[in-house]
Amino acid sequence: MVNLSRRRLFSRTKVNDNALRLPWLKSSSNFVNDCTRCGKCIENCENKIIIKGEGGFPTLDFSIDECTFCYQCAEVCPEPLFESQNSEPWRAEIVINDKCLAFKNIECRSCSEVCESRVIQFKPELGKVAQPKLNLDECNGCGACVSVCPTSSINVRNVDNNER
Ligand code: SF4
Ligand code: SF4
Ligand code: SF4
Repeated sequence: MVNLSRRRLFSRTKVNDNALRLPWLKSSSNFVNDCTRCGKCIENCENKIIIKGEGGFPTLDFSIDECTFCYQCAEVCPEPLFESQNSEPWRAEIVINDKCLAFKNIECRSCSEVCESRVIQFKPELGKVAQPKLNLDECNGCGACVSVCPTSSINVRNVDNNER
C-alpha cells in the first residue's frame, strides 16, 4: 500500500518526468506519485544500473551497464507499478549525438559490435569513415551500446506510442 500522505508530498516534488525510469512501468508519468522510494529495485537490480535519481527516485544509468530484462526490479517492488513480464518492457530507443567519433571522421564501431539486435550498422560513405545507420524498429532500449561508446554519444530515450 502506498502511504497517501507521502504520495501527496512527492506529487509536489519537481522531478524530470522524461527520465528513463524502469522497464515494465505501467505509467512513467505517474511514477513519482506512486513510487515510495523504498530502494528495493536499486538493491535487487542484477546489473546495478538503477540509481537514485532526481528527488531520490530510481532511474537508470546505462553508463554502468545494460538492462538484461531480468524483471527483478518489478518482482521486488511492493507497489503495483509494473506490468506483467510477458508484456513489452518499454518503448525506448537510442539517439546518437554529435560527439560520435564517426561523425568527426574518426573510425569507431564500438556500439555496433555490442548490439545483438543489429540496430546499428556501419555503411561506407564516399570521402568519410563508415557512418552509423540505425534500424530503430529493432531497438529494445537495452542500453548495451551506451557504456561502450568512448565519447558518451548515445542516450536511450522514451518513445511516445504515436512516435513510431
Ligand atoms: S530488468 Fe533487471 S537489469 Fe533491468 S533494470 Fe530491472 S532489475 Fe535491472
Ligand atoms: S521498489 Fe518500487 S516503490 Fe521501491 S523504489 Fe523501486 S520502484 Fe519505487
Ligand atoms: S539500446 Fe540495445 S538494442 Fe538499442 S541500439 Fe543499443 S545495444 Fe542495440
